[in-house]
Amino acid sequence: MIKLHNKTFVPYINSLEIKKAVKKVAQEISTDFQNRTDKQPPLFIAILNGSFMFTSDLMKELSFNLEISFVKFSSYEGTSSTGNINQLIGFNHDIKNRDIVIVEDIIDTGNTLEKVLPILNDLNVKSIKIATLLLKPTVFNKKYSINYVGLEIPNTFVVGYGLDYDELGRNLKEIYKLKDTVMLNIVLFGPPGAGKGTQAARLVDRYNLYHLSTGDVFRYNIKNETELGKLAKGYIDNGQLVPDEVTIKMLESEVEKHPEAEGFIFDGFPRTEVQADALESFLSKRNTSVKLMLALDVNEDELVNRLLLRGKDSGRADDANEEVIRNRIKVYNDQTAVVADYYNKQNKFIKIDGVGSIDDITQRLFDAIDTFKS
Ligand code: AMP
Repeated sequence: MIKLHNKTFVPYINSLEIKKAVKKVAQEISTDFQNRTDKQPPLFIAILNGSFMFTSDLMKELSFNLEISFVKFSSYEGTSSTGNINQLIGFNHDIKNRDIVIVEDIIDTGNTLEKVLPILNDLNVKSIKIATLLLKPTVFNKKYSINYVGLEIPNTFVVGYGLDYDELGRNLKEIYKLKDTVMLNIVLFGPPGAGKGTQAARLVDRYNLYHLSTGDVFRYNIKNETELGKLAKGYIDNGQLVPDEVTIKMLESEVEKHPEAEGFIFDGFPRTEVQADALESFLSKRNTSVKLMLALDVNEDELVNRLLLRGKDSGRADDANEEVIRNRIKVYNDQTAVVADYYNKQNKFIKIDGVGSIDDITQRLFDAIDTFKS
């Protein structure tokens, strides 16, 4: 067992198994490349940082002529309206008409490679093959195929042999996985202005949870003028719900970004029964579920006062206008309040008095969670 930052990891794939996986990839690549008579040898492109150990071991198993280059992929917000700019750093080969083999340590959703592939294609390469030591087939959801796979693993968070947890663990000889913990997934519920965001921050600190606020994710996307942001803006400005299909897809991808989380606080989600069903279904893929819904109870006049007050410095358009605020509360009563029944039927619903000092309300939430855990 080892500890990296605040998390504990247990041995998962030992050196022998890693060696076997490397040999398997090497053999398959050799079968495809060793008897070729092309003028130029294939060019291997290793994507840093994680792939450095795998690449090194893989190269020692390949005996035909080849070239190798190490690149880093970076994606940053451009200053123009073009949005994200993707680029490969450290890349100075002329790769026109070359056979390329991309070397990755791990492929999960496949998002990174989905951005790398067009960059290489634009450079008019002859062919592209992809080799990875590890693949998470249950989360990989892209159209391109992966040609050489060392080992398939489930959606667990792994470190070692080049892979890191927040930069630690890359130097480990073997691969470790996050020690199983029973995930504490909480839906923090209540009408707009109930104090969900404020209280979520305090629960995160105490229980080591990941706070996922759909409203925050939407606002981030609006600010950065992404496609999702453009789609959501009209609904949010009017105090209406963003369509389920869009919201669910967005939330699922946020959950997938955090395989190391020991639990989530869902803030602002689910807001409809369809969303509640979707949440159950993708948490079940991780062998877990919502454990508790904590519903902050606050009367309407108090909510409107709080939101108008918050609107003075939050900069949120939907907080500035009483009509929009009242509409959000109406939408909550008409469309969202039913979600409480959903969890009530499963005996997971706890109502918390949401009026009083912030500290007192926090204490009520702590007490409810501690009683559940004990
Ligand atoms: P919030 O910050 O939770 O008050 O959310 C602000 C706005 O984002 C809402 O009024 C909705 O327009 C949109 N939104 C947030 N979460 C959801 C959700 N689960 N379903 C649909 N729309 C949402």
